[in-house]
Amino acid sequence: MHKLVVDLASFMTEHKKPKKVGILGTKSPEAYIGILAAGYAGATYVPLNLKWPEQRIIQLLEALDLDVLIVDKQGLSLLTPDVLKAAPDLIVSVSTQNLNAARDSQLLVAFADVKAENLIAPAQVGSKDLAYILFTSGTTGMPKGVMISAGSLKSYLDQSRSWTALTPEDHMAETCDVTFDLSVHNLFLCVDAGASLHIFSALEMLAPSRFIRERSITVWMSVPTLAAMMRKSGALKVDSLPTLRLSIFCGEPLPLATVEAWAQAAPNGIIDNIYGPTEGTVICLRQRVEATPVVTEGRDIIAIGTPYSTMQVEIFDENQQILGSGQAGEIALSGPQLAEGYFNYANSSQTDRFRDIDGQRWYLTGDLGMRDENGVFHHLGRTDNQIKLKGNRVELEEVEAHLRKAAQSEMVAVVAWPIIENSAQGLVAFCTSGLTEETIKTALLDSLPRYMVPETVHLRDTLPVNINGKIDRKQLLEQL
Ligand code: AMP
Repeated sequence: MHKLVVDLASFMTEHKKPKKVGILGTKSPEAYIGILAAGYAGATYVPLNLKWPEQRIIQLLEALDLDVLIVDKQGLSLLTPDVLKAAPDLIVSVSTQNLNAARDSQLLVAFADVKAENLIAPAQVGSKDLAYILFTSGTTGMPKGVMISAGSLKSYLDQSRSWTALTPEDHMAETCDVTFDLSVHNLFLCVDAGASLHIFSALEMLAPSRFIRERSITVWMSVPTLAAMMRKSGALKVDSLPTLRLSIFCGEPLPLATVEAWAQAAPNGIIDNIYGPTEGTVICLRQRVEATPVVTEGRDIIAIGTPYSTMQVEIFDENQQILGSGQAGEIALSGPQLAEGYFNYANSSQTDRFRDIDGQRWYLTGDLGMRDENGVFHHLGRTDNQIKLKGNRVELEEVEAHLRKAAQSEMVAVVAWPIIENSAQGLVAFCTSGLTEETIKTALLDSLPRYMVPETVHLRDTLPVNINGKIDRKQLLEQL
């Protein structure tokens, strides 16, 4: 293991054996060293999203009770006096200039000053010990912390090693923040194989094909939206990405049109569409795109494929009975990759998705799906109001919960709009309120990350309701 990782793990352990290490940073050497050092020291790592407003960072720091906070250059700008107050006793930061400890017990240390008296050996952890907690959108208004154990992570890596076949010669592209679990795949498989990880800066994300060529990237992984944006901007010219041997898409439906354009740009590589929720440890189904791709009928998207051999995947009806091939229902997962549950949500309705059925533990994904006669699974949309917005998982109810407060009104609705090629491009809100649109949006920006704040808030005297008396989103969409 890299010396900096062992130094940091040993230093943290000398201070106080850490149980939970927060990462206030992303896509930086400090963030990755922090994550690896947390694992080396036997602690759980918890990335905090840099897009969260101050209020949310403070709330989560208070709830998490971290032992250490690792801060990179981007995270440093979020380390306000109030955030510092809620932060743990040990903070290891890229710089400590202009930072003042919030209390006597708080120790602020610069990365350059991290030194340990004795270097520790890697900690032994049990399979049920938590490897990481990742926060995703939650319907109640607070993000849900998905708890993944070391056993689940190991099982995932064991399954993923064979089909990715990484070697020390591979140059992997990192397009994802550490709050998104595709980063788990990239970082751990990269370290495991001794490959190199090439981090895209925000600027480089604007012209990814150039970066792919300059760095001779061999393995690409991103959400399909990024590829669709490249296609739109004319960046996917024929044979323009010759170094790619493997391209992986995940997180959203993968349109056939995107795949066709990508295959022309990267003719020397193969393409995989992988599927899974954070609650199932990155992914558990995979479909290789062959010369004649397996396409989901009527949706023009690539099938999501067949399960990892360790995971059982079934289609359930509304009574959680297993359906046969050709029948549409909810995709349900079972097996060693299932999360331990949600942080601090022990008895809430949020655990409705984790079910014990006839003595077997299942996760109900909320995704609609179907298994065809060849045993290949297809994704057919959602059973609820969870959407993907440029790769970010968003529960419309979470935005509505915040809108209710911001608009001081009970009559609120948020819809995804516009939808282009089956993919949401933005959010639009409707509400009754005595406040102005500007005031409401300003209040929303204080409590939600920017990508979750609707671009437009339509103020109405009343909102249409359906036959059950619920706010009718369909009618609202028709008004746009
Ligand atoms: P996340 O927890 O952010 O990874 O989001 C998981 C959700 O993303 C799934 O439940 C699906 O709705 C969606 N998703 C992930 N991968 C795919 C895929 N390959 N095709 C269609 N939807 C996907």
